[in-house]
Amino acid sequence: MFNFEFYNPTKIVFGRDTVTRLSTLVPTNARVLILFGGASAQKNGTLDEVKAALGTREVHEFSGIEPNPSYETLMRAVEHVRREKIDFLLAVGGGSVIDGTKFIAAAANFDGEPWDIAVKGGANITSALPFGAVLTLPATGSEMNNGGVVTRKSIQAKLAFHSPLVYPQFSILDPSKTFTLPPRQIANGVVDAFVHTMEQYLTYPVNGQVQDRFAEGLLLSLIETGPLVLAETNDYDARANLMWVATLALNGLIGAGVPQDWATHMIGHELTAQYDIDHARTLAIVLPSLLNVQRGNKHAKLLQYAARVWNITEGSEEARIDQAIQNTRDFFESMGIKTRLGDYELGQAAIDIVVTQLSAHGMTKLGEHKDITLEVSRKILEGAL
Ligand code: NAP
Ligand code: FE
Repeated sequence: MFNFEFYNPTKIVFGRDTVTRLSTLVPTNARVLILFGGASAQKNGTLDEVKAALGTREVHEFSGIEPNPSYETLMRAVEHVRREKIDFLLAVGGGSVIDGTKFIAAAANFDGEPWDIAVKGGANITSALPFGAVLTLPATGSEMNNGGVVTRKSIQAKLAFHSPLVYPQFSILDPSKTFTLPPRQIANGVVDAFVHTMEQYLTYPVNGQVQDRFAEGLLLSLIETGPLVLAETNDYDARANLMWVATLALNGLIGAGVPQDWATHMIGHELTAQYDIDHARTLAIVLPSLLNVQRGNKHAKLLQYAARVWNITEGSEEARIDQAIQNTRDFFESMGIKTRLGDYELGQAAIDIVVTQLSAHGMTKLGEHKDITLEVSRKILEGAL
């Protein structure tokens, strides 16, 4: 295993009826800004519960943080924070609201043009407002990590940033808050968490045996729980498992001491920025093709994945790898997520544009070996046609 440091300060409060815990988790003298998305948190009553739990604190609201949160929207929230001297942020929603809240927290006191936070990947963040989250969509792990992704619509850029200063202080995970999710978002969440795990698992062996076993456990749990959550809309335990798996898939734990890939995410971000395809759907398009193109580098781990996750132990090594990649694609499709560019009416012209954008964003050496050049990205996208 590689040397590593592991640090995660986010307190998780998990279970039914835990939104009431906000009454003690948020400082009593705070000037709070609740941030949320479109209508879901209002419609299903979560927002009212949140406000009730905050009691007599001074509470402001900012709505309209859209999926793939835009810099343009987030900067309006930053203005609100500055104008009203807000000192605590509370995200109520999925990854987009939580990522957006991280950006707002860092941008509020940023010296200069806050878009530079995204351009520099967060390296220039020197302070951030404290914030917590009430998670309503299991998918991204944003509720327990220090990363965020923001989109600047005017230039069709979707960029990730990281900073130790943007961990949530706490996140409330009440699985019953996910009962109102439409099937599309459940499927997206399962696939996003699956690909987060794969980005940290399917690289090359470094004797990280315990990390491999953690990752395989998460993948197997997603394969078992995903279809159950889609089929049984009121199964609390299935939802609870999915929620915790998605958090564990990207809270730093399984990535400690092992190589990480992340090329699927970087290429996927360009597809979302250009064509507004849901984040998880872009990953489902890119990952199977990437595994195929990178099968030489990833040979040993692909065989391990085939055997331990899909129980594929017979046939030639190449045939087992083919089958494991096919099973991955079939799993995504079984969740209702299409895995080909053509399914989204994209062809060769889109590939040219995405490769140009990868180049513009410096994504020229991706993957655990930094060998996914623009040419390799093109090959991956062509394999996904
Ligand atoms: P999302 O974009 O936060 O939400 C998608 C949709 O789900 C929204 O329309 C939202 O509706 C709805 N929704 C949320 N909770 C609901 C509920 N309980 N009931 C009904 N509808 C609900 O989805 P996400 O997949 O969690 O986040 C995607 C974003 O996270 C992307 O920008 C992606 O790039 C990013 N991401 C971040 C990380 C990270 O580590 N930080 C990792 C991977 C991806 P309303 O707007 O009406 O609430
Ligand atoms: Fe993701």
